[in-house]
Amino acid sequence: MPSSHVLVLNCGSSSLKFAIIDTVSGDELLSGLAERLGELDPQIKYKFNGDKQLIALSPNDAHQTAIAKLVELVKQLQLDSNLIAVGHRVVHGGEHFTKSALITPDVIEAITKTSSLAPLHNPANLLGIEAAQSAFSHLPQIAVFDTAFHQSMSPEAFLYALPYTLYKQHGIRRYGFHGTSHAFVSAEAIKILDLNETNSKVISAHLGNGCSVTAIKNGKSVDTSMGMTPLEGLVMGTRSGDIDPGIFNYLTEQLNYSAKQIDTLLNKESGLLGISELSNDCRTIEESAADGHQQAALALDIFCYRLAKQIAAFVVPLGGLDALIFTGGIGENSDVIRAKVVAHLSFLGLEIDNDKNLAARFGSEGVITKQTAPCAIVVPTNEEWMIANDAANIAQEQK
Ligand code: ADP
Repeated sequence: MPSSHVLVLNCGSSSLKFAIIDTVSGDELLSGLAERLGELDPQIKYKFNGDKQLIALSPNDAHQTAIAKLVELVKQLQLDSNLIAVGHRVVHGGEHFTKSALITPDVIEAITKTSSLAPLHNPANLLGIEAAQSAFSHLPQIAVFDTAFHQSMSPEAFLYALPYTLYKQHGIRRYGFHGTSHAFVSAEAIKILDLNETNSKVISAHLGNGCSVTAIKNGKSVDTSMGMTPLEGLVMGTRSGDIDPGIFNYLTEQLNYSAKQIDTLLNKESGLLGISELSNDCRTIEESAADGHQQAALALDIFCYRLAKQIAAFVVPLGGLDALIFTGGIGENSDVIRAKVVAHLSFLGLEIDNDKNLAARFGSEGVITKQTAPCAIVVPTNEEWMIANDAANIAQEQK
């Protein structure tokens, strides 16, 4: 059996998530997280053979050192000989990337050019690519973009009603994110439900710390709730999602907010956290709401109402609905949120099955409604597997 292991890297500004995936069996052989990089107490946590371990790093150690330690670890665990590629999650591919790409100097230049659209993410992704290229110079490196799946959207769906030159000259348009997850769960749902991919109407709700909904017609993304940045759309853990853009002016003119303060307000202090004044964590919100915390209950209600409204809106581009998919930490585990959202959508013919809803948690998939057409279904996402699979396919093409 030819070797088929792929190292998957997901590099953030102060973190590095990694995994080694066997793309034939789908097994995750190693997984871990280097965190607080560049800070006083960075560390690497990893899991191998069910065993959890910790590697302490020195103060201020950053991505380069974390990757050097990861290389040592991979060798020490004898996982290096079967590696065929490194797959990198890249947040923003702009309009340039409609699919995953073998990393070449041209690809690096294109990712760099797109950095203005994702100033927090793309530079961090590039750091990971650079460090991995020097550490694994013998392996093909592949970039997998969060935005690529949504490049099938039409101008009707992706353009803002702003002066057209802002789009033409500066690329201001909707791009969408979580594409790897939406692509994975929609393909899985189509298989599980035995739908005809070329004649299917699916909506996927990826609900984690960030949340987005995508309308997928005949296997292709036709609309999605996130926009030029991952701030647009749904209520999220700490992000506001859609608000009246006029609020920006009110905050600056009347309340003396700076642009930077508004950015922090909308990205870090809003959403479930902002409404509840308690937590951004859905579990805490649910538990507190059940204990009578009124703002937690309100946060939950607003989250579900806005989500249901967005799902209903996406029936327009689809012209109907075969399946509504729930995924991500909240979508895969919160029977409470799923039941509330499905109740809002009863006019579409959806009705929750309480037993099935409770059964589909903690990694279990399955239909959670009484009906199968249309239905709501839980499908655990697996972005690492998607990245590994794309990387393995592109690496094979190079041979
Ligand atoms: P990320 O977007 O960072 O990958 P996740 O997909 O892991 O995040 O989702 C994190 C969210 O999932 C948190 O709000 C967490 O509270 C929520 N979550 C995890 N388990 C449960 C659960 N059992 N019930 C409700 N929410 C849950």
